Amino acid sequence: MTGEQEKVKIKRCPLCGGELRDGNTTIPFLIGERVIVIRDVPAEICSECSEAYMKSGVVDKVESVLDKLEELHSEMSVVHYEAA
Ligand SMILES: [Zn+2]
Repeated sequence: MTGEQEKVKIKRCPLCGGELRDGNTTIPFLIGERVIVIRDVPAEICSECSEAYMKSGVVDKVESVLDKLEELHSEMSVVHYEAA
């Protein structure tokens, strides 16, 4: 008989192996010479090293936000993820 262990789904940080937890983060993007800061981005954040990982759906939205902001030609933009 083999004891079946229930697998607990804990996501681990690829950098340090710490536990990832849901949270919000602020991410600066450097595009050419411009800086775009997106605040309150939903992400999984490492409890050990604080590295934030965006989920795939979030990445898509962030990319479309960056596309829109690129057309504004401002040197620095700060936007909230929810409002974007
Ligand atoms: Zn980590």
